[in-house]
Amino acid sequence: MASTKSSMQTPKTTGTFVVPDYYRQFQCKGGECRDSCCVGWTVTIPVRDYFRIHGLEVDKQLRDRIDRAFRVLPNPTPDRYAELVHTYDNDCPIHLKNGACQLHAKKGEEALPTICRLYPRGIRMDYAWEASTANSCEKTLELLMLSPDPLTFETIKMTVPLPQDQVVPIETQEEYHRIRNHVWMLFQNRSMPLFQRVFRVYQWVSSLEEKNSFVEDDEFLSNTETKNVDLFFEIMPVFLRESMGRNPGLVPLGTAILDQLEEFCANDYLEMKEHLAEVVGDSDIWFEKFLMNNLFFRQFPFQEKNATFTEEALSLVGTYLLMRLIALVGMKNKQTTIDFVDIMSKVFGVIVHTRFERNIRLYLQHVEVDSPASLFALLAV
Ligand code: SF4
Repeated sequence: MASTKSSMQTPKTTGTFVVPDYYRQFQCKGGECRDSCCVGWTVTIPVRDYFRIHGLEVDKQLRDRIDRAFRVLPNPTPDRYAELVHTYDNDCPIHLKNGACQLHAKKGEEALPTICRLYPRGIRMDYAWEASTANSCEKTLELLMLSPDPLTFETIKMTVPLPQDQVVPIETQEEYHRIRNHVWMLFQNRSMPLFQRVFRVYQWVSSLEEKNSFVEDDEFLSNTETKNVDLFFEIMPVFLRESMGRNPGLVPLGTAILDQLEEFCANDYLEMKEHLAEVVGDSDIWFEKFLMNNLFFRQFPFQEKNATFTEEALSLVGTYLLMRLIALVGMKNKQTTIDFVDIMSKVFGVIVHTRFERNIRLYLQHVEVDSPASLFALLAV
């Protein structure tokens, strides 16, 4: 019995983490949240959380909710043992209408499944000890939009309800820091428009593959007239439609955008650009901060074990292109920054929490829009 009891305890790790400048201010909005993460998300929990929560002493009403909330998976594993069973309106049975969590309210934060305690936080303890919050949470984007200043980082000491990850070799840790610091430098060079910076990061990260010294060629950057608006509005909506098929959560927003594009004409593009600027000001600033926070959160360009740097660089370009499409068309009939936050947090739900990065690069390769010239022409839109 003793060993079973200890293995059901939530592991804890204490240490110093590098965090973005907004991290200390992050607090869940609870009932104020417009798009709660307790609604509509596929959530699985590990075996230790499942038996720990079922072992809690709770009143009958909460017991009933817990018994309805979790179902053991057909092929359970220690890490993915049970799944959350949503109510008819796609909500968590333990989530109250006032936005609060009944388990949290009655038994405290420590009683929650680890995923609920942590989301939207991403805690990393392999290449480096880092923590940030996902752009799929509207609070993250709201905090990023509090200031136009470039994202900065600081260190904080904290205890997290997770075991330490497997540590990677020191040389790899050093390469990780060297590469990411250079990426941040390129990304925050506001003397260039953001699309050129994304292209510069794409070129530089891709060059890491060849291990040869990177030579900045401004051939593309100097030629800003190469934007290909028609190709952009030809291929990106197709990818959006495919993504909707894989991600039901994207359907309402995606459908609205595809409907808008039904009677799209080239003039609309300029109108959409102007309107986006009217509502959010210099969108390059918010895109830069959203993208950079996402790259930090995802551990770019080390996020996929089996992907090459060139592939990760192509996924970055794809991320920017989808953000651009969603913002330009999605904001067409919207008037507020709250609309902008809601639209962008929805698309980041797909970018961060699905195999989006793999799918977008396979798509760009499939439509043969993966050469530097064609990518630059799309980025310039
Ligand atoms: S999406 Fe963010 S703010 Fe909203 S309920 Fe979840 S953690 Fe809280």
